[in-house]
Amino acid sequence: MSRVYNFSAGPSVLPLEVLEKAQKEMLNYNGSGMSVMEMSHRSSLYQDIIDRAEKSLRDIMGIPDNYKVLFLTGGASTQFAMIPMNLMKKGKIDIVHTGAWTKAAIPEARRFGKVNIVASSEDEGFTYIPELDKSKFDPDADYFHITTNNTIAGTRFTELPDTGSVDLVADMSSNILSEVYDVSKFALIFAGAQKNMGPAGVTVVIIREDLIGRADDSVPTMFNFKTFADSGSMYNTPPTYPIYICGMVFDWVKSMGGVEGIYRRNVEKADLLYNFLDESKMFKGTVRKKDRSLMNIPFVTGNPDLDSAFIKGAGARGIVNLKGHRSVGGMRASIYNAMPVEGVKELVSFMKEFETANS
Ligand SMILES: *Cc1c(COP(=O)(O)O)cnc(C)c1O
Repeated sequence: MSRVYNFSAGPSVLPLEVLEKAQKEMLNYNGSGMSVMEMSHRSSLYQDIIDRAEKSLRDIMGIPDNYKVLFLTGGASTQFAMIPMNLMKKGKIDIVHTGAWTKAAIPEARRFGKVNIVASSEDEGFTYIPELDKSKFDPDADYFHITTNNTIAGTRFTELPDTGSVDLVADMSSNILSEVYDVSKFALIFAGAQKNMGPAGVTVVIIREDLIGRADDSVPTMFNFKTFADSGSMYNTPPTYPIYICGMVFDWVKSMGGVEGIYRRNVEKADLLYNFLDESKMFKGTVRKKDRSLMNIPFVTGNPDLDSAFIKGAGARGIVNLKGHRSVGGMRASIYNAMPVEGVKELVSFMKEFETANS
């Protein structure tokens, strides 16, 4: 059986070693005679799985002791509402509008207070990260929301905004664990697992402890961070199997030289593709150079028929899921942590071949 090079934006490629280990443990986890899926979340065996997953994530991200790690459900999208429900006290936040995911987050936050868009790159289809003018920041905002990597547009913040004493909240769904971040610079980091951590179904929230317990009584139990912080993410049944896989992915990151090692490999992969895009006469990147993502790389030929032929030809070679998001068109190669260097080499070599054959 042969595996493809899967460039899907999410859910996306997972490390082969992790899948093989899961396969080996599928019918009989650690001598228990059952799969992790069949196990009570209240068993000591499962407690050990979730504890080790958390510890491994704390190790690779260097998460300080005054932060809680929560394993939640509902996807990153639920956080667009859950965060304002818990963190809005004065009823106003700042946000940098950089694409589809802030477009979704803004109206959710508006249900709970005022949203000040401090900068936006909508004027050019979100193909860049806007310059930030600090005089537009509200020093009295409850928090400041950014999307560190924009999965659809293919941009990334290469520098974090200096928000002074205002808490920084980051949607890291598509680049968590892809580069080193100093967690202490953030009040809250959230990420759906299905891009860089594991299967869909679990959302990781890393939250500074003093922000827990701020929600008022109108906030339902299942939407209150305190519920999950007080119960070790076990108030109700957590997404047990996705957490188990995430734990193995965290261990895999460690084995790859940690987030630093993974970052070096990500730069190598992104350079391979960007360098070719910069020299190609057929394929063009769609994003301002200085803001290019290391994870999601959109590119176009400018000719929809050529784009389709390219995607079809790539598929026949086992290079799959390259169709671009409908808002950008063309192609998008998502090269998350688990995409091997060989996969990107294979893609670039097919691009070269296709260009030669069609020009
Ligand atoms: C995928 C994605 C989301 C949405 O995640 P869900 O888990 O599907 O809700 C939000 N933000 C970013 C940056 C994403 O890449």
